[in-house]
Order: sequence, then C-alpha cells, then structure tokens
Amino acid sequence: MKLLVIGGAGYIGSHFVRHSLRAGHSVAVYDNLSTGHRQAVHPDATFILADLLHEPSLTKAIADFKPDAILHFAALALVPESVKEPAKYYKNNVEGVRILLDALKSWNASCPLIFSSTCAVFGVPEHLPISEDDPKHPISPYGRSKLMAEYLIEDYSKAYGMRAIALRYFNACGADTKGDIGEDHKPETHLIPNIIRSAQRSETLTIFGDDFDTKDGTCVRDYIHVNDLANAHLKAIDFLMQKEHSCFEAIHLGQGKGYSNLEIVQSAESILNTPINYRIGKSREGDPPRLFASTVKAQRLLKFTPQHSDLNSILSSAYKWHKNHPEGFDS
Ligand code: UDP
Repeated sequence: MKLLVIGGAGYIGSHFVRHSLRAGHSVAVYDNLSTGHRQAVHPDATFILADLLHEPSLTKAIADFKPDAILHFAALALVPESVKEPAKYYKNNVEGVRILLDALKSWNASCPLIFSSTCAVFGVPEHLPISEDDPKHPISPYGRSKLMAEYLIEDYSKAYGMRAIALRYFNACGADTKGDIGEDHKPETHLIPNIIRSAQRSETLTIFGDDFDTKDGTCVRDYIHVNDLANAHLKAIDFLMQKEHSCFEAIHLGQGKGYSNLEIVQSAESILNTPINYRIGKSREGDPPRLFASTVKAQRLLKFTPQHSDLNSILSSAYKWHKNHPEGFDS
C-alpha cells in the first residue's frame, strides 16, 4: 500500500513509518518539522517538508502521491501549553483536520483515514475501564480540540462517504528496539522519559501528587508501547479497506490496565537496575486520578492485542534510546 503519513517525523508517526516500511508498504511523510525531527524519518520514506495548514501543498502532495490510506499524526499535544495558547491548538488540531478532510473529499472521499486521538477527550472519566461511548468532558483545550476534530471527521464521514477511524491512545511510550528513534519532546513532560533522565543524570524526579484516590495515592495510567500503536494503525487500515460504505469508528488503544506513578518508578529501578531519586511535588492541574482503557472494541474490530507493552519491554527500549541519544536527535 501507499501510505501518506502526516506528522511522520514525530514520536508515534516515525515509529509507524518504520513499522510500515518493514511490512513492505511505500511511505511518504508530510511534516512541517515544528515538533518532529528530520532524523526520525526513515531514509526509505519520501519526505515532504510542508505545513498541513497550507491547503495547496497538501492537495498537491495527495494528488502526486495518490495514497491508498492517509494517517494523520500531526498535532500539538502539550496540555499546559494548550491552556496558555488555545488559539494555536484550535488552529493546528481542528482547522488542520478541516483542511485535510476537504482535501480528501475533493480527491477521493473514500480513501481510508486514520486519525490520532487521545483519552484526553474524556477528561475525568465517569467509568473505568473507559469505553469508547462513555461521556466525554475534556478539561483542556488540547482534549477539546481533539474531540472537535473527531466530530468533524464523524460528520464528514456520514455526509461524504468517508471511511475513518479515530484511534484514542492512552499513554504512548517505549521506543523501537534498534534504539535509533524515540521520544524527544522539548520540553519533556512525560513520566517515563523523565524517569530515565533522572536515572541517567542523577537528577531528582518530581512525582506530581500522592493524595489521589488510588492504591498508593499517585496517578494511575495505561501504558502502551509505541510499536504496538504502530501495529494497530495497520490493522485499522485493513479494517477500513474492507468497508464498502462510509464508516467512522473511535477505538481505544491501551493495555486495559493501569500502573501508578510509583509502580513505574519502582519497576524502572528494578528493570534498569539503578536507583531513581524522587520527591513528591504538588499535583499537576487537570490530572485525572486513574485512566485505563477498555480493550474490547480494539480486540473485536481490529483483532488487536498489544505484544510489546509489558513494563520490561517499554522501559528497556526507552532506556536504550535515551542512552544512545542523551540530548535526543541533536545528540
Ligand atoms: N508525571 C510525574 N512526573 C513527571 C511527569 C509526569 O509525576 O515528571 C505524572 C503525571 O502527573 C501523570 C503521570 O505521570 O500522573 C503520567 O503523565 P504523562 O505526562 O506521562 O502522561 P499523561 O497521562 O499526562 O498524558
């Protein structure tokens, strides 16, 4: 298949690109490198340096490459930044999707579209594990922008015969076992890279809060390896290929169980065989106490079960990437 990967220079996108090339697909990456890294893009992929918000460039890229499916990973995803600069988030994450949908509608409305969404659309969930149709009350502009984008995709799908899936990621983590691509966010806000950095630099990690209503008082999250996410995307394309009519589905990608922040720290100490210095800080605004996915729909529709999402695989692969690239791609 020919796959057009918008945002293929980012953390999850670059892993998907590699996974697809390994599976024998032909890949073009469309990315403005605002948060992604050119070095993260596999040399066997065609690279198009362009902005999703620039409609003529996108239209041309689609017409030239003639993809069999489009995957949209390009979004801004920092919750605190989204609170300070909502305009930026709505422009990129909502207007960007509108532009993509219009381009697709004019070119070939039935071309399968896979959209990167997030469990942040739920805010503080009413039920656990979180099922796809549970009530959604996003509490950040980031979560709202993603939910709005889902609504756009759903409405376009119904009206114009599109075939689309929103994959709602829980906590993406880990790295390819080769150790040459991985997480490189500036600033880094995620727990696992911050734990590893603390171990490598003998710095003190701050755990945000220990008075949540959870088993040890720290937040509980559902961690899924980035290569498992990549695999689920290929399965999602296969699913859409079999649909003859318009289709929109939202599907959760997680392990279906949560680990507390302290459990992750303790596992890192034993798996990486190194002590982690940590202190308990104030809780972070808007952090829900517990998030974990229902995996029923992913299993039922995509026949997807994570294969690499045990903490050993996650932490050792992430450690290898950070060890080889202590300053990220600039190392
Ligand atoms: N967290 C933490 N210290 C850090 C980074 C994150 O205690 O340096 C906590 C965060 O408050 C949350 C959990 O780790 O409870 C997962 O946060 P992350 O940012 O990795 O993902 P999120 O669930 O917010 O998308």
